[in-house]
Amino acid sequence: MAKYNPQEVEKKWQQRWAEGRLYEVDEETTKPKWYALTMFPYTSGDLHIGHWYAMAPSDVHARFKRMQGYSVLHPMGFDAFGLPAENAAISRGIHPFTWTMQNIDNMRRQLKSIGAIYDWSREVITCLPEYYKWTQWFFLKLYENGLAYRGKAPVNWCPHCQTVLANEQVVDGSCERCGTAVSRRDLEQWFFSITKYADELMQHNGIDWPERIKLMQRNWVGRSEGTEISFALDHAEEKEIRVFTTRPDTTFGVTFMVLAPEHPLVAKLTVPQKKAEVEEYVARSRRRTEIERLSAEKEKDGVFIGAYAINRLNGERVPIWIADYVLLSYGTGAVMAVPAHDERDFAFAKRYNLPIRVVVAPPGCGGEELEAAYIEPGIMVNSGQFNDLPSQQGIEAVSDFLERKGWGKRTISYKLRDWLISRQRYWGAPIPIVYCPSCGIVPVPEKDLPVLLPEDAEFKPTGESPLKYCERFVNTTCPRCSAPAKRETDTMDTFMCSSWYFLRYASPHYENAPFDAERIKYWLPVDLYTGGAEHAVMHLFYARFFIKALRDMGLVSFGEPFTRLFNQGVIVAERQKMSKSKGNVVTPDAYVSELGADAVRAYLMFIGPWEQGGEWNDSGISGISRWLNRVWNLVTGGYSRGGEVSPAVRGKAERDLSRLTHQTIKKVTEDMERLRFNTMLAALMEFTNYLTRVREEGMVSLSQWGEAIDTLLLLLAPTTPHLAEELWQQRGHEYSIHNQNWPRWDEELARDEEITLVVQVNGRLRDRITVPASITEAEAKKVALESRRVKAYLEGKEITNMVYVPGRLINLVVR
Ligand SMILES: [Zn+2]
Ligand SMILES: [Zn+2]
Repeated sequence: MAKYNPQEVEKKWQQRWAEGRLYEVDEETTKPKWYALTMFPYTSGDLHIGHWYAMAPSDVHARFKRMQGYSVLHPMGFDAFGLPAENAAISRGIHPFTWTMQNIDNMRRQLKSIGAIYDWSREVITCLPEYYKWTQWFFLKLYENGLAYRGKAPVNWCPHCQTVLANEQVVDGSCERCGTAVSRRDLEQWFFSITKYADELMQHNGIDWPERIKLMQRNWVGRSEGTEISFALDHAEEKEIRVFTTRPDTTFGVTFMVLAPEHPLVAKLTVPQKKAEVEEYVARSRRRTEIERLSAEKEKDGVFIGAYAINRLNGERVPIWIADYVLLSYGTGAVMAVPAHDERDFAFAKRYNLPIRVVVAPPGCGGEELEAAYIEPGIMVNSGQFNDLPSQQGIEAVSDFLERKGWGKRTISYKLRDWLISRQRYWGAPIPIVYCPSCGIVPVPEKDLPVLLPEDAEFKPTGESPLKYCERFVNTTCPRCSAPAKRETDTMDTFMCSSWYFLRYASPHYENAPFDAERIKYWLPVDLYTGGAEHAVMHLFYARFFIKALRDMGLVSFGEPFTRLFNQGVIVAERQKMSKSKGNVVTPDAYVSELGADAVRAYLMFIGPWEQGGEWNDSGISGISRWLNRVWNLVTGGYSRGGEVSPAVRGKAERDLSRLTHQTIKKVTEDMERLRFNTMLAALMEFTNYLTRVREEGMVSLSQWGEAIDTLLLLLAPTTPHLAEELWQQRGHEYSIHNQNWPRWDEELARDEEITLVVQVNGRLRDRITVPASITEAEAKKVALESRRVKAYLEGKEITNMVYVPGRLINLVVR
């Protein structure tokens, strides 16, 4: 008997599978389809254990669906554009393309070692012209359909160097080169109108996604219903400030207003004696990031600009302040401050000694001074004709009144902003637009795609687009009038590349369009999409927007790209997240060459529930490796009948094996469907142990033994594909185990054997009950006490003792 040598076995079968193209996708349409997608990796250069944790279990599930008779598409590719490639290339002095393709070569080699069913003829790489040609095509489609537009957005600007800076060139708010404080400056950039789909993106109808991901997406949209209210200005040109509020019932409690420092009214309304102070504050807040500005820990500060607005509801003059906790990009960029009923406004009012007026009283209270903002609903007070209304009614009554007077209107506000896709970087797909002095913005005609990224451009970051300095690229002719014109020099956000890659896999070499409509009809939507939860908003959100936009253009017939979404957990080491600085990174390559890919695959799935992750430890993987060795020895060790036993004993042994075999098929199948790999493996280990005992006893027939062993191998095939294939062959079966049907269980055979439990009360027979043979003592007692016949003899009595004879009898002693 040869010893299990995983390296030899795995090498042999990987070669054979590749040569025979075993996993080439089968598109014969009589089979039902299954599209199993794992988020494609970024081309960082090295697969770590986290990649394996994303990829091995999803491969196991895809293999399972394949054996169930589905035509399975389980592709792999690379997300290859983006900043890290550019930065790594800069620090190493090699071209991003070279760096990226070298990384892909290494990662592809590592991915092949997993032993997955990826059909490599379908690989997509987003930085290749044959791919990004179609990324550009989608840009043009969105533009044609009014979903792409040019608008202003802020960039970092160094007033000393007179240049735009990339985010990484800004250190603590100052220019990395000269130390000057960096300010923000508006630049013309490209946006996608994702907000047009805001309402639909909040709905997740008909898709099976984790609740928390759906919630995060809804929060990202941030829809709120409220009222826009106009406050009057006493000013020569400007007549009003508009604010959005969800609590118009608190309008009588406004004691000041706050504008975002960037609000266009600030310069116009600031009185001369406040000008210097206001300008300084505006400059300071321009250096802060949005996150700093919104941070809950930071104390809110601001400046009074010397002007007043009029609250039309009560005619009061309220001072106007600026504060950077108010963002221009949210709502109207102005808020009515109601310190009594808003926590942030309360803190601000306390800090600057501004009045706090209660206008909503907690039920049963008057208008006493508050120690903190009261933000709950209540009864309106100090609110003129609206006094005594409960908040909810008050919101409606005040809104009605404002609308009637023309002082406000009901509206819906969203936190979601349009998607800014322009990047002032080199390593991305060029935006296919030409600027002509006479025709203006002209899209590049489809026949001229791709707009190639020039290889020889200088790519070091300046904050400005590197392509600006590549004259060969910039200078072109207008597609419309043929006059000299200039190309757009920004590249696209790489989230654009990943918003449609799953469509390309369906027909990766199709040349006439980004995808073959027939293939899309067959494969899409993705049946199961797996990946990290960190993509909850950006990637998953953008991909959904894309598909909805394509649907409305008539290019696809579905509105949701991913029918089921599953997020795997995180693998930690020494109870910590793995990181290079902690030196606890587990590199799979070493384990693969020592214990084999099958052991790594199985261990990762055994480590804990897939959605929770778990802790990697070396003794755990050795345990798995020992189990696989036991399987090897069990299957290759042969089988012989033991000494003579009675037919009754033999019959029972055979029935027991048959039952456990069918129970195991059932358990493994159900766990597979639910992606509960750890409990599935526990069942397979239990089955292995059982078979080891059966082999020692030698009571079942040779043919039944063989069937049980084959079942074990078939159930193992998705998890340990190499080991299962090798043992399948050694048992003399036809190649390949991976083309076999998934075993089915017989509910009748899987059912626990039943016995008749005799129930006695004080030694006298009172009932006979049919129960599973495996019933425990506690269960038997429960069943006995529930019997109607038995109950009659227990009434008014106390059970003092109980005798249980397993598989036969229970006697209740009563007094
Ligand atoms: Zn500078
Ligand atoms: Zn022109």
